[in-house]
Amino acid sequence: MPSDPARIRVTLLGTGTSTGVPVIGCTCPVCQSADPRDRRTRCACHVEAGGLSLIIDTGPDFRRQMLREQIERVDAVLFTHHHFDHVVGLDDLRPYFFGNRSPMPCYARPNTAAVLRRMFQYIFDGDGSYPGIPKLELREIDAPFEIHSRYEARSPVPVIPIEVYHGEMPMFGYRLGRFAYLTDTNRIPESSFALLEDLDVLVLDALRHTAHPTHFTIEEAIAAARRIGARQTYLIHMTHNILHAEEDAHLPDGIALGYDGLSFNVD
Ligand SMILES: [Zn+2]
Ligand SMILES: [Zn+2]
Repeated sequence: MPSDPARIRVTLLGTGTSTGVPVIGCTCPVCQSADPRDRRTRCACHVEAGGLSLIIDTGPDFRRQMLREQIERVDAVLFTHHHFDHVVGLDDLRPYFFGNRSPMPCYARPNTAAVLRRMFQYIFDGDGSYPGIPKLELREIDAPFEIHSRYEARSPVPVIPIEVYHGEMPMFGYRLGRFAYLTDTNRIPESSFALLEDLDVLVLDALRHTAHPTHFTIEEAIAAARRIGARQTYLIHMTHNILHAEEDAHLPDGIALGYDGLSFNVD
């Protein structure tokens, strides 16, 4: 764990769209690519901030991502929304309770919390009779909040939820310090642009080149990234229409494709 309380270090756990890349049964050039950056697990993110270890979303590849990155602690989970590719790995948080029984907060918008409560009824509304359940506590949020360590006395880490739209559905991105993570969106409201000033690094949804009703295209993401003006933007949630080496070479300065395992510090 980092000793510098001001340091933020981010690792992109997964950068693929809901199918993952390669796509099951597909023989296209991207799905057959030998470039490891073309192998995209479902989107999730690890953030070390103020000595805390935070996860954004727990999709179907969560267990393998945590093993790959050797993440030994989790203090809290931030959920962006309740689609399958962002939540279904939730139960794989159980090993984080083997050596530490303190509850783990899971932050989510009320609409997302309601779905999580139904999907994982045995965790959130169970009668406690099944002893193996993770001690997850759903916390509904609609305003900035602070996260405390599950492991030791530390200063709490402030988080700003950023409302974005995924088609017609409102959902959250998150800002920690000068880092913001905005997945699964095709519209950022004006009020949210105001919360995205002075970023060092932005992570932003960019599905493919052709239009989609709930995701930014690469071109739309570039336009939004330019307006936000972070020093560096990484694009995520790409389909198998995007060949990493070819696409990345054509992106403007300060904008690059993310890939699984990419880590960076935030100033
Ligand atoms: Zn998604
Ligand atoms: Zn393919």
